[in-house]
This record gives sequence, structure tokens and C-alpha cells, in this order.
Amino acid sequence: MPMRDLSAGPRVLLRRLRELMAEPLEPQERLDRIVRQIASNMVAEVCSVYVLRSDGVLELYATEGLNKEAVHTSQLKMGQGLVGTIAASAQPLNLSDAQAHPAFRYLPETGEEIYHSFLGVPILRAGRTLGVLVVQNKASRNYREDEVEALETTAMVIAEMIATGELKKITRPGLELDLTRAITIDADAYNEGIGLGHVVLHEPRIVVTNLLNEDAEKEVTRLAEALGSLRISIDDMLSRREVSQEGEHREVLETYRMFAHDQGWVRRMEEAIHNGLTAEAAVEKVQSDTKARMMRLTDSYLRERMHDFDDLANRLLRQLTGFSGRAFDEGFPVDAIILARAMGAAELLDYPRASLRGLVLEDGAVTSHVVIVARAMGIPVVGQAAGVVALAENGDPIIIDGDDGQIHLRPVLDLQKAYEEKVRLRARRQEQFRALRDVEPVTKDGKRISLQMNAGLLVDLPQLAESGADGIGLFRTELQFMIASTMPKLEEQEGFYRNVLKQAAGRPVTFRTLDIGGDKVVSYFRAQEEENPALGWRAIRLSLDRPGLLRTQLRALLRASAGAELKMMLPMVTEVSEIHAVRELMQKEVQHLSKFGHSLPRKLQFGAMLEVPALMWQLDELMAEVDFVSVGSNDLFQFTMAADRGNARVSDRFDNLGKPFLRILRDIARAGERNKTVVTLCGEMAGKPLSAMALLGVGFRSVSMSPTSIGPVKAMLLGLDIDKLSAELNAALDDIRSPEPIRALLLRFAEANNIPI
Ligand code: PEP
Ligand code: MG
Repeated sequence: MPMRDLSAGPRVLLRRLRELMAEPLEPQERLDRIVRQIASNMVAEVCSVYVLRSDGVLELYATEGLNKEAVHTSQLKMGQGLVGTIAASAQPLNLSDAQAHPAFRYLPETGEEIYHSFLGVPILRAGRTLGVLVVQNKASRNYREDEVEALETTAMVIAEMIATGELKKITRPGLELDLTRAITIDADAYNEGIGLGHVVLHEPRIVVTNLLNEDAEKEVTRLAEALGSLRISIDDMLSRREVSQEGEHREVLETYRMFAHDQGWVRRMEEAIHNGLTAEAAVEKVQSDTKARMMRLTDSYLRERMHDFDDLANRLLRQLTGFSGRAFDEGFPVDAIILARAMGAAELLDYPRASLRGLVLEDGAVTSHVVIVARAMGIPVVGQAAGVVALAENGDPIIIDGDDGQIHLRPVLDLQKAYEEKVRLRARRQEQFRALRDVEPVTKDGKRISLQMNAGLLVDLPQLAESGADGIGLFRTELQFMIASTMPKLEEQEGFYRNVLKQAAGRPVTFRTLDIGGDKVVSYFRAQEEENPALGWRAIRLSLDRPGLLRTQLRALLRASAGAELKMMLPMVTEVSEIHAVRELMQKEVQHLSKFGHSLPRKLQFGAMLEVPALMWQLDELMAEVDFVSVGSNDLFQFTMAADRGNARVSDRFDNLGKPFLRILRDIARAGERNKTVVTLCGEMAGKPLSAMALLGVGFRSVSMSPTSIGPVKAMLLGLDIDKLSAELNAALDDIRSPEPIRALLLRFAEANNIPI
């Protein structure tokens, strides 16, 4: 087979390199011997290694053939000269007449003018360029394809040497290599707070340490077997009907399948094996090459496909290495900051909560459920952090700023100190908020506001006393279902609610019945794939169609609140008739319990969430039907503006403090007054002091938010004269000609009246 003949050279070279890597040599000596070995094996007169420093400069670290004095002296910037071009493009350059290339740059200290042919390849790791490896010859020639491939394979060994930190010892003082470069990424602030800690990649890359093979045929067979299992597993996922329920879109799976059968991909990996790599190193090499090239694409569709390809290659690596869990050499960090492309709420709940210091998402949106859960956990969240996962390694130091939306990867010491100071300042501010805990939430003009908190898990409960909230305005019962692996039984649900009520110690708890469907995925609950899940079979719609499910929950709630008050509400109500239907089921449950001698709740408060705009034209009927209404502003806003709350491209496009939405909220508050029905709001906007101020201005007297927001919102309202604000705000909302955005008016008002927002 010609392939094997051609590969004899690289295989011998790789074997030699492996021996060199194992010898107890000083790093400079090792590198010098590596370049000598490559030069002799490739019959080249020159072989040089350039390493990328954190200041974007490529420095000559070793050479065979060029002037030795140039080592650690010769430098090229990223994009400059042939070497800089290779680094910037992450593509090899194969030239028979290097000096004729427009990017050629003459470095007199190297003495390279006598060499005509030039072959340079990027030194890549996980798609990142760490340096450039070059061979040169005097005679003008074109290097063969297999020689390019061989040099790329060799570059992997050098990448490993750089990645293990071995070259640090020969890096001049004051300089750093790019791998340890401090990076700041501007992203979006999703939940306030500062997180200092260490990176935990949600989908960890598998670090391949066994690079060089003993028997190429054996590795080709291993690769073929792993690919076979991978293809079967993809077909299997595709054939399951609940594909969309697993968070893996059919479209993505189709792309996986296409890549998994791509002959070009398979051929490149086989070539790498024939050149001496193990099957896993071959997967990594081709993944890294492809990624480096695709990272430079500007087309967002293709970049997205790159993610898919990357995921697929990771799956293949997992097949080959049998890796399944999260490996941490020194245990799971006590100050973990999770980095993920995207994540479901249940996955976040799988992490040890006490060790979580923050969450970074490449995608996501501020009102997506994983963010809501993170907020409930009180951890800072930064979203829309493009590319962060590829730049980070497990265990890297990281700071995330949930106030400004910044991420500092491998921060320099000064920055770290500045942030430690900021954390101390925040702690002091928290201290001040805590001091407000027992202060009554009464505005400057004497209006008592009900401040409640949102919860969904038992671990949230201690926050009730700590925050000084009046009660729980929204208890998201679906979280118990989302973290369970099977449907919680009646007894489990009852025990859970009982526990919640016990820990609430007499403060009211508003249980919301199951709000699953849409993006709230419950793995064991099978549903059909839907085109528009947010508008689909979810929440109360699903509960009414599965009365067994709803009745079990109602029974559990009734039993858990025996002798006490039961406060419950329904999510996503669209028509008042849905409330009647639930009341009927409730009646049946009450009868059933009475018949069997169970004691019943002392009082029942029945409410509805206002999340669907259709209810705006049934306000009076609705309020005649329920004891209270709670506005779910996250959903109401998404449906009002036709802007998906989970899609960052559109979720922030419109202002929730703009006229349309505030007018809607005012209408709801007015309907509440008219009907003497308690109206509250439990979406994310209640937790921001500025929007909470607007809510009070349009007539709300009760709001529910994440517990960490209670202090800041209370501080705001203590300084607020609601009547004064309402006068200005209502005038602006009624004035169809006023050009000033309402948000600007609110900011101006807060500043003029010294209100902390
Ligand atoms: C809302 O929609 O505003 C709400 C509080 O419910 P959830 O965020 O759980 O959908
Ligand atoms: Mg909702």
C-alpha cells in the first residue's frame, strides 16, 4: 500500500521524538534536538520552531540551520511575514520560492536568504494556534502532500510540549506564552455578582496524552469501530421520537450524521494514523485543524456547524477513550465557574451547589430557565460569551463580573486584586442590605409594599428568613420534576410541599402548578416534537390534558396544607374557562379527601398567572374568578413583543420599560383596583430596582423576585414617593407625543430624588 511506504519516514521520526520526549533533558536541549531530528528526517537544511507569546509576538525558540544567535531574538508579529501569516490563518504555507511571496519578511539575523523553499505549519491545540513549525531547503522545490501532513503531525508533539508548560522555563522573564495569556471577553450580564474561581468546562475536552501509535493497522481498526458505534448512537437518537425533548435538535443530529459519514473526515484521520498517531490523537489533530480553519469564518451558519462538528469529534473521542464523566485531577474545585455553550436547568442542578461561584454561557438569554435557576442559587451569570469555551482549559483561573458582563480568563495579579477589593465592597453593601432585613418595606409616602421571593427548591428556603421577604410569591413546582429522574409520586410531592411549608414557618407560599413544556424539559415525560414549543402544549394546557398528573399534584398540595392556608396559581392561563376546569378537578379532589377523612386546608386562595396577552381582554372576568393574579412578566413580555425569551438575538431587542409594556402593566394594576383583586408580579423585572420602581409607579403594591434582589429593591422603595412618581409616569404614558423614552424618565427621576437604583 503506497500510503504505508510514504509514511515510513514520519513514523520513524515520531518514534525518535517519543524517545526524545522521554529523556530527562532541559527544555532548550530537548527542543534543539527535536528540530535537529525533524530536519534530518525530512532532509531539510533548516527546521525552526516559533512560539506565540501572550503579547502576540512569535519568537524563535529553536532552530537547526539558521543562525543560533537568532534564537530568542528573532521575532515576528501575528500576521507579519510568512510565519505570522501561518499563525494568523492557522493554515500551512508550502512555497518553492519563499522570497517571492508578498508576505515574506527578511530577518537579517537569521541568515535565511539562501533558502528558497519553505514549508510552515501551525502548531495547534484545540483549534488554538500556539506557534509555527518551519522547514526550509536551499533548492527550490514543492513539499509533497505527505510531507505537509507529516510536519503537521510532528507539530502536535510540540503543541503538547507547550501545553504542558515545559517551555515556561526558557521563556524570558516578564514574558508569557499565549497559552497562559490573560483574556478579557465582553459579554452580557445575566445575574449580578462577582465570581472568582476556576474553570470547569461543562463539556470537558478530552486531553489525549497517548499521541504516538505502535501499530497503525490496529489504530485504524479502533477508529473504524468507534465511528461505527458513533453512527449507530446518532441513528438511535434520531429514531427516538422524543428527540426535541432531549435538548438535541433534530437538525443538529442530522448534521452530526452527515459529518459522521463524511469520507473526507475519515480519510484525514486515517492519514494521521498512518503518519504515526494513535486513533484518539488523529481525531484530535483533524479536529484541531478543522476548528482552527473554521474559527476564522465569518458566516454564522458555518460557525454554528463548526460547533456541531466539534461536538461530534468530542463524542468520537469519548467513544475511543471510554471517557464518560467529569475528570478532575485534583478533585472538583471548591470555587467552580462553569463554562458551557448552552445548558439546561437540570444540568446546572447536578453540580455541587456549595462549590458553584458562577456560570458562563456562550448562548442563553437572561430569562432562560437555566439563568433563572442560577439566579435562584444566587450565583453570578454572564451570557453571550462567544468563543469562551475554546479559549479556556479546565482549572484556569477566571473572574466573572455579573454586573458588567465581563469575563477575565487567567487574570493578571493586579486585576485579581482589584476584583478582590470589589468583592469586599459588595460584601459591605450586602451587609447594608442585610441591615434592612427587618425594616418594613414602606415607601416614603407611607405605602406598604409586599416584597416576596421566588423559589423552587428546598435549598432556597433558608433565604426566606435571611432576605426578610414577606413570603414566597412564586414557587416553581416543576423544578422538583426537572431534577428527578422519574416522575415524583404523590407521596414524594406531598412530602416535599409539606417540607416547604414547614420551613416557610407561617409565611405564605404561592405554589404554581406544573409549568412544564416549552423549554422546561422533563426527561421522562414524553411529548411530541413541536414547531413552536413556547406556543405549544405546555403548562396548564398540558395539565388539563393529563388530568391524572394535575389531580395528583392538587391532591399532594391539599394534603400538605391540611389545617393551613393553601395558596396556589395556574401558569399560562389563556381563557377563563381553563380556571373553571381546574376548579372542577380541585372540587373532586376535595370531595375525595373528605370522603376518606383527610383534613383539608383551612383556607384556599386560588390564583392565575397572567402571561398570555389574550387575558388582557378578559381582565374583569378573570378577576371575578380568582383571589389573586400574578403577572409572569417574562412570558407576558415575550408574547406581547413576539420575542422569544430564550433567544438572545431578540430577547433584549425591546425595552420592557417602554410604553407598550408599561401601559399593559398599568391596565392590569387598574383592573386589580377596580375588582379589588390582589395583583402581583413575579417575573424577572420585579428584581431590578429601576423596573421595580416603574411597577410601583403604575400601581403594583406587591412583587416577587429572587431573594438577592429583596435588599436592593427595598433600599429603592424606602426612598420613593410613589404618588410623585405616578404623576410623572402616568403623564408620560398618556402623552402620545412625548419623545423621552420612559426608561430615561425613570433614571432621571431616581437621580433627582436620590433613589438608589
Ligand atoms: C414568567 O413567565 O414571568 C414567570 C414568572 O414564569 P417562568 O419564568 O417560570 O416561566
Ligand atoms: Mg412563565
